[in-house]
This record gives sequence, structure tokens and C-alpha cells, in this order.
Amino acid sequence: MLKKRLFTPGPTSVPESTLLEMALPIIHHRTNEFKEIAASVFEDLKYVFKTKNDIFILGSSGTGAMESSIVNFFSKGEKVVVISGGKFGERFQEIASNYNLNVISLDLEWGKTLNIKTLKNILDTHPDTKAVFATLCETSTGVHFNIKEIGEVVSKCNETILIVDAISGLGAIPCFTDDWMIDIVITGSQKAFMLPPGLSFISVSDKAWTKYEKSDLPKYYFDLKSYKKAILKKDFPFTIPVPTIIGLQKTLNIMKSIGIEKIWAQHKIRAEATREFFKVVGLKLLPETPSDALTAVLLPDNVDGEELIKLLRDKYGISVAGGQDKLKGKILRVSHLGWQDNFDVLTIISSIGIVLGEMGCILNIENGLKSANQILFP
Ligand SMILES: *Cc1c(COP(=O)(O)O)cnc(C)c1O
Repeated sequence: MLKKRLFTPGPTSVPESTLLEMALPIIHHRTNEFKEIAASVFEDLKYVFKTKNDIFILGSSGTGAMESSIVNFFSKGEKVVVISGGKFGERFQEIASNYNLNVISLDLEWGKTLNIKTLKNILDTHPDTKAVFATLCETSTGVHFNIKEIGEVVSKCNETILIVDAISGLGAIPCFTDDWMIDIVITGSQKAFMLPPGLSFISVSDKAWTKYEKSDLPKYYFDLKSYKKAILKKDFPFTIPVPTIIGLQKTLNIMKSIGIEKIWAQHKIRAEATREFFKVVGLKLLPETPSDALTAVLLPDNVDGEELIKLLRDKYGISVAGGQDKLKGKILRVSHLGWQDNFDVLTIISSIGIVLGEMGCILNIENGLKSANQILFP
């Protein structure tokens, strides 16, 4: 039997101690016992989000929270700017268009980062913009976006809110919801939170709430007003995935005990070591400004990325992600998210080196490993 190792940017591996908690018999979600758990996770999420705002928990994948950020705060025809440098920026454009918002697409070449002047110009030309949508870490390309800088620009516009898809970043890399003036922050359980898929989290500022009453878009399951009412009673409007909430309590306890700043630092070291390995063996990174949540590397022209991923998975039990859409077959994406330690980094980089060798692409992996080692174990 092959030992399975998960290095995809969602889902990510879950600590055994959390899995054990989640395996206990199901309890009812309208009991005091469960409400105490709910109260603690509502509170502790604020620590990870760096916010005083309420955070709502939805029984959906991250995309559900993306949709809720649109249906609750906008009306048909309202103008919004969506910054898109990849697959997930495009998703926000699609959701907003499907709800008939007037979408101005700020499209970037995949792998490239934002020049803040471009956003400033658009906002100057369109003072009636109701929101700017951005992504903390564009998971399809590994690009890290400077949300602080975007927050400074957007906060100067009284009528405009900032909505950030932090699904793959929050919990792994810095995201200061309040200090960076982000009105809505979205994330999901199956990335940095080291949990199975099934929950999404969304924080909402007072400035965003002022838009709620005016919104004319249809909503029911994702109507955040019902979540806001329920939260006062430490409750959820609908049946929430009970085991995942119990897992969330465990995860948040782990995160608090390590300390969020230390968790960010650990991701940084692991990402740096991975990047250094690829550089030393002569491979190029795709992102202009790489995120510490995952590393996206360009493969040599003669290597079929899909084949490489298949070999890694079927022969060695290692799951990584490939490229999406136009990057299919061209890149490899290695996640630093989830339950990982420094030795996992050595496993993933050496196995990529070995399999590339098997595919006829001989790299000096010893030198690469040596450099990575110096970063991981200085
Ligand atoms: C994973 C991811 C999503 C999609 O989340 P789902 O949970 O699959 O709906 C959206 N945005 C980013 C940046 C992601 O990494």
C-alpha cells in the first residue's frame, strides 16, 4: 500500500489529532454543548482574521462565500472592478456577471502582479465604482497580491468596498483584515485551516453592511442577515457540518497555541526553501511576486506536466497540482498549506527531482537539496 501525501493547494492534509476529534459520535447542532463550540470558533476566527468584525460560517465551499459576498451587498447594474490574474479572479468576474453587475475587468497576464497605478486610474475614471474585488493569493498562478496597498487606495473612496478572496492565503500568510481596511474577507476550511472541505468563512465590515439593505439581488441560503441573527444565539440558520465545526475548534486551538505569526514564518521558510531548490536546479518560477502559500514552477518544454503529476501520484503517492486552463501541462503547483513540517518540503522537492529524472530531465538535485536544507535547518 502506497503512503499518500497531499501537497495540493486544497484540499490539504489534516492533523491526526483533528481527525480523531471529528470521528467522535455526531452531536446535535441545536444543543448547548454544540453552541459552546460555536461560540468559541466564532471568537477564535477573529484572531486568525485579525479583525473585530463578525465572521460568518457557511456550510459551503469557498465559492459559496464568494457568491454570498455578491448577493448580499449589491444591486443589478452596479459597477464593480474585479482584479483578475488567474482562474480565481475570473471566478469573481463570472459570479458578478451572472448577477448582472456591471463588471470592469482589470485583467493581468497570468503570473503578473498588479501595478497599483492601474487600479487608481480606473477608480479615478469610474468614481461610481461600488466595490473592488481582489485575491490575496491567486492559487492558479501562485501570485501574491499586495492587499495592503489596494486597501489604502480603496479606503479613500467613500462609496467603494474592498472584497478579498483569501481562500488559499488566510491562515498561512499575513492578512490584516482591519489594518488593511478590507471590508469582506473570504476563506475556506480545506486550505490553510488544515480541515476537510465543507466550510467557508466570511468577515463583514460595518461599511459593507450599510449596503445590505439596499441590495436587490435574490438570496436565500446565502442571505447573511439570517447568519447575523443566528450568531447572536451562538447558532447557524441551517444545519452546519457538525464534525467540521468540531475540527475547526481543534484547528483554532492548534493555531492559537503555535501563534499565527509563527505559522506565517513557518510557511515563509518552507516556501523559500522550495523556491531556492527550483532556482538552484535551473527551473523558473511562474509568479512575479510569489506567495508563501504555494509555489508554482514552470516546467521544461520537453516535460509533460500532466504526465509528471500522474507519475508522482501513481508511483510515489504524492499529490501536487498542475496548471489550469492555459497553463495545463506547463506548470506544477506545490502547496505549503495544511499539516506539513520542514521534512515534508524535502520529500516533495526530492520526489519532483527524481520523477523529472525518470522523465529524462536530469537536474542536479543534490545541489538543490543542499540549498533548501540550509534554509530549512540553518
Ligand atoms: C480554492 C480556491 C477557491 C475555490 O474554493 P472552493 O472551496 O473550491 O469553492 C477560490 N479562490 C481561491 C483563491 C482558492 O484558492
